[in-house]
Amino acid sequence: MEVTLLAVTQPLDGSSPEALIELAGRVCYQSEPKGDPASFVRKRMQQGHTSIVEHVSFTFRIRGISRGCGNQLVRHRIASYSQASTRYIDMSHVTCVVPPEVAADPDALAVWNTHMSNVQTVYQWLRGYNIRKEDARGVLPLATETEIVATFNCRSLLNFFEQRLAPAAQWEIRELAREMLRLVLPYAPTVFEQYEGGLDD
Ligand SMILES: Cc1cc2nc3c(=O)[nH]c(=O)nc-3n(C[C@H](O)[C@H](O)[C@H](O)COP(=O)(O)OP(=O)(O)OC[C@H]3O[C@@H](n4cnc5c(N)ncnc54)[C@H](O)[C@@H]3O)c2cc1C
Repeated sequence: MEVTLLAVTQPLDGSSPEALIELAGRVCYQSEPKGDPASFVRKRMQQGHTSIVEHVSFTFRIRGISRGCGNQLVRHRIASYSQASTRYIDMSHVTCVVPPEVAADPDALAVWNTHMSNVQTVYQWLRGYNIRKEDARGVLPLATETEIVATFNCRSLLNFFEQRLAPAAQWEIRELAREMLRLVLPYAPTVFEQYEGGLDD
């Protein structure tokens, strides 16, 4: 998978995203910033006053994840998505995400590869019968690679990390969550510091 950061909310005065969060938070108390956004933001996070972090958003470009992983991602409703469409894109030569467990077992990998090759052949046959892409796509597996642009605000990302960095989450979306965390930490280190340990798992 390849995850890149396309955009981050940046205050027009040149200050940091966390300075914007502090400014929004201080409106609640009608107080003035004291030049240390980290300390203010950390206290609000500890109080659970997390609505103030909604003022900062991140836009990610996510390539090379499986449709199965994409399905899990877009269940997070408090975010915005644009995804490559199998209605409009010809899927005759797609690539698939191979789970590490399958890749590590030569027998399993042989079965997997045979099936994927058959799928491509069936898709191409269907297209040869003039079946529309939106119907031929019905034979595509969940392992088919997809591309998604996703925009999350920090509060929604906190919820995403809470669920998807956890050991109970599936390996691929955990890997995606780690990549996203790696990208946002430099911009909002205090907001996401509680998840820093998740990078090592
Ligand atoms: C380990 C794991 C296993 C899972 N297994 C399954 C499964 O088997 N089947 C399945 O269907 N899903 C499954 N899910 C998906 C899960 O149920 C959530 O749909 C998904 O993780 C998105 O979480 P969310 O609703 O908190 O996020 P978002 O949709 O981004 O919502 C963020 C928060 O906003 C609030 N919110 C959003 N919409 C509403 C609403 N309509 N009403 C009230 N509050 C709202 C909630 O507080 C929510 O936590 C699984 C998730 C995980 C992490």
